[in-house]
Amino acid sequence: MDLDFNDGDITRYSRHILLAEIGGTGQAKLRHAAVLVVGAGGLGSPLLLYLAAAGVGRIGVIDGDVVELSNLQRQIAHTTDRIGVTKVASVAAAARALNPNVRIDTRCHRLTAANALALVADYDIVCDGTDNFASRFLLADACVLARRTLVSAAVLRFEGQLSVFRPQLGGPCYRCLYPAPPPPGLVPSCAEAGVLGAVTGVMGCLQATEVLKEILGIGETLAGRLLIWDALASRFRTVRLRPDPHCPACGPDATLCDLSAHADTENPACDR
Ligand SMILES: [Zn+2]
Repeated sequence: MDLDFNDGDITRYSRHILLAEIGGTGQAKLRHAAVLVVGAGGLGSPLLLYLAAAGVGRIGVIDGDVVELSNLQRQIAHTTDRIGVTKVASVAAAARALNPNVRIDTRCHRLTAANALALVADYDIVCDGTDNFASRFLLADACVLARRTLVSAAVLRFEGQLSVFRPQLGGPCYRCLYPAPPPPGLVPSCAEAGVLGAVTGVMGCLQATEVLKEILGIGETLAGRLLIWDALASRFRTVRLRPDPHCPACGPDATLCDLSAHADTENPACDR
């Protein structure tokens, strides 16, 4: 691997390089990695900033929305003077200001059944920072089909959840945990039920940490475990997840072979 860092790189990443688990080799792995972030909202803001700061070489971001005043309570990569600007342009400006050495690919449109598979396949690791079940299931299925690791975070009110799904390496997929979307209206969105802004920030940072661990191959993976954080109780707990032998996406009799089931799915905004 190319370890040809210049003086600026060595200074910028010195606190990483000092870590025995990372060093110059690990920093080079980060530079050669490509990560896709779906949703430039409350999870995507800290996630993108920490991936850029860490020196992940190529970061893709997809979101079809523009920055609104009501986003700024939690979506901290955006600014008041960028209200009305597309979220992907806004978050890319923030990430480039932090680290101009990383490449940010922006896509200002929604994730659809037509574009998801090719997009996901273009990256090593995929992050779900969306705010609706249609997008979550579409992205999860695309990751299974493209054999890509999915780092998935979710928040609502005062609670967050996080897991890593990589059935291509063994372990469960998203549909092993949630076989199908809940009936419409059963689970409220953040727009309906609210969310404490800082909770999205913590979960986005935890998500970034798991992405970096997966790239570096260090520590204990969160694959096969679900991390649940109750912010009001100040309690983290971890639940073991197992592959579902009847999983429609990754089981031995899986019926998932393309994304056609999502073709008529309407995908609302990706801006949790
Ligand atoms: Zn599965």
